[in-house]
Amino acid sequence: MSAAGARDSVALHDPVFISDLHLTQDEPQTVQRFLRLVEQLAAGGHELVILGDLFEYWAGDEEVSEGIGATVGAALRTLTAGGTPVHLMRGNRDVLLGDGFAQAAGAALLPDPCCTMLGGVPTLLSHGDAYCTLDTAYQAFRRQVRDPLWQRAFLRRPLGERRAIIAQVRLHSNSTKKAMAAQIMDVTPEAIEQALRSSGARRMIHGHTHRPDRHRLSLDGQSAERWVLPDWDFDTAPVHGGYLHLSGDDLAVVDLT
Ligand code: MN
Repeated sequence: MSAAGARDSVALHDPVFISDLHLTQDEPQTVQRFLRLVEQLAAGGHELVILGDLFEYWAGDEEVSEGIGATVGAALRTLTAGGTPVHLMRGNRDVLLGDGFAQAAGAALLPDPCCTMLGGVPTLLSHGDAYCTLDTAYQAFRRQVRDPLWQRAFLRRPLGERRAIIAQVRLHSNSTKKAMAAQIMDVTPEAIEQALRSSGARRMIHGHTHRPDRHRLSLDGQSAERWVLPDWDFDTAPVHGGYLHLSGDDLAVVDLT
């Protein structure tokens, strides 16, 4: 896990935070809801910050030239060209999102984690999977797929082969997740505290766990907090999804259902 230093910081103006949309052509209502949010944001004044897992999977930036990748890339391009900045962090499912997609969308890639100032509170932004430290098998897998050498070798394979390998990994991960204790798949409090401490932040915003909540913490005698973003699914009941934004000096979740 890398600590966020001063160089990994981003200035945001009136940001709207989303994550874990898991966009795929198999879930058209979720895609439609995302496209509607993008249209609403085009009215201006906000910045869109995507904290990972925008896509259900991403086999490489060639995905931007067809299907869901093209639809989403074009929508974000229209938004950014109209003057609404988009910041994009990779998640675990779309860890292979690269400069090709970012350029097509007009988006800026964010390092994970990175710091921002939000309503006067130094805030750490992350996808969140790095803090699920009890799942040691996953953390080993995470290190592998984030290794630049591994990525370069993987991206040299034909697109169809990459998609097939990813489909296998998704099948395997769905079956192991069902057998795993809920606690192992959540973030560990110690990992969160350590990240806040080493970055000097007093708030964290992350996604990944699909357990939207606001956790109030005490860190070295100071109050701190952790916001978990909602995941999205508008195709299967109970439908759910939303975003986090600044409302006055405080953060608030807006439910989009
Ligand atoms: Mn995730």
